[in-house]
Amino acid sequence: MSNIENDDLLADTSHLLSQAIPSGVDRRTFLMRSAVVGATSVMTGRVVSAQERNERSSAAPPLAQDLNVVQKGKGPVMTTIDEFYKVGPGPSSSHTIGPMRITYDFYQRASKLPADRLAKATAMKVHLYGSLSATGKGHGTERASLAGLVGKEPATVDPAFLDSLRDKPDQVFPMKLGSATFDVSLKDVIYDATKGDFKHPNTMTVKLMAGNDVLLEQEYYSVGGGFIEWKGYTPPKKNAPKYPFATMKELRAHADNNKISIAKVMLANEMSIAGRTEEEVYAFVDKIINAMTATVKSGLKMPEDDVLPGPIKLHSKAATVYKRAMDDSYQSDRGIGALSAYALAASEENGRGHLVITAPTGGSAGVMPALVYGLIENRKLPLQKIRDGMLAAAAIGYLCKHHATLSAAEGGCQAEIGVASSMAAALVATANDAESRVVENAAESALEHHLGMTCDPVAGYVQVPCIERCAFGAVKAWTAYAIASNEIASRHRVDFDATVQALAQTAKDMNSKYKETSEAGLALSVVLC
Ligand code: SF4
Repeated sequence: MSNIENDDLLADTSHLLSQAIPSGVDRRTFLMRSAVVGATSVMTGRVVSAQERNERSSAAPPLAQDLNVVQKGKGPVMTTIDEFYKVGPGPSSSHTIGPMRITYDFYQRASKLPADRLAKATAMKVHLYGSLSATGKGHGTERASLAGLVGKEPATVDPAFLDSLRDKPDQVFPMKLGSATFDVSLKDVIYDATKGDFKHPNTMTVKLMAGNDVLLEQEYYSVGGGFIEWKGYTPPKKNAPKYPFATMKELRAHADNNKISIAKVMLANEMSIAGRTEEEVYAFVDKIINAMTATVKSGLKMPEDDVLPGPIKLHSKAATVYKRAMDDSYQSDRGIGALSAYALAASEENGRGHLVITAPTGGSAGVMPALVYGLIENRKLPLQKIRDGMLAAAAIGYLCKHHATLSAAEGGCQAEIGVASSMAAALVATANDAESRVVENAAESALEHHLGMTCDPVAGYVQVPCIERCAFGAVKAWTAYAIASNEIASRHRVDFDATVQALAQTAKDMNSKYKETSEAGLALSVVLC
């Protein structure tokens, strides 16, 4: 056997070649990248194995280990409900709500600079990198970034303001910082490098300039679901949870040992971690329930022939599907049609850039509202059951965030619609008084059947496949509950924690082209004319 460390590498490079193209990897790109890695190894004299070459040719750059979103995977779940469910403008929690929160945060920081430094300010510049740059145009990232700079917050921004930025992109806004006044416009938001050595695929920097000098600069990360971090971020201090858990197994043990529901465990933890009363927790949950029903209602009210913004010229379907469902003579078809219509309605609102709720993200914002609306309007369930369902659904989202990701830029659509469907299955099971094992099984089943789903929005717009995908996610959630509530719960062979592990591993292995870059899949095969 030859010693390849000592052999002349130029003599025979066949041992360096990756022969097998990993599944899901574009052949041409793979071969090109593989060749580059091979050439590098020849030039540097360092041997790169075929397996290492495969990994380097197909995998996305890893997340920086010091990001809080990575660190949070250790220890008990500490996320709270007001961090998780966020109201904001569509279409994307990571590409719209996150960037708006980031630039709003930067404006607040800049305004605290000493007066003599502020007096020199002449401009603010926002640089978008990675996925934010690759697909930001379709998500309105530049408009969201500018809105945050001029002091708009996601929960209260008037969507008409964002629409006006789209319709009149040359608008200029005066910015006052201390004694300095200067103009900001969409030209100050720069779509920068899409590839590079970033800590997170959704990286951006914001700078306060004095001519060519930088007065203040901050690097930020939109880490999914509207959550943001920045270089040097330390999470806010929180109290210990009453029932600490890091896995579904531990969560369910608390519920079963104390003879309370998963929802009650979550309520107790919300109160202890955030130091809130039960009334305060429920007041927030009610606000989110109301926002979810409002988004479905406003989507259903849109005219049948409404055309969504963007180059796809996609016609809305919610009102038509709903109308036809109501006319259907088969009761079961009416149910599926109505549920699909509710999801389409909320998701189309997201496509319009109107207010939606991250559950867990903007792209998946049709799934949970569809079930919430259906359980309230059709099943007429009491409010308390919906509240309990919302808390149990949050537990599912927290665990997926804790051990995997909610960001399509990290994990593809399985991390968005897959998690949303899993949350919705837990909501339905809990609202129907299912025991904790059935809640787990329903959530597991819904997540399991989204594993591997890629993110490839056509033209970078959160419309195709996203809008219909929300309807499928909602129906799958119902199916998952139907199966889980009819099987013998203890015979369910896949536990939720194992499926979350599979989600994390699949996210890690997924080719970066399928992670919200619009470089592959439908984004490539659908030709717009
Ligand atoms: S394909 Fe899925 S993950 Fe990607 S933008 Fe659409 S809904 Fe979000």
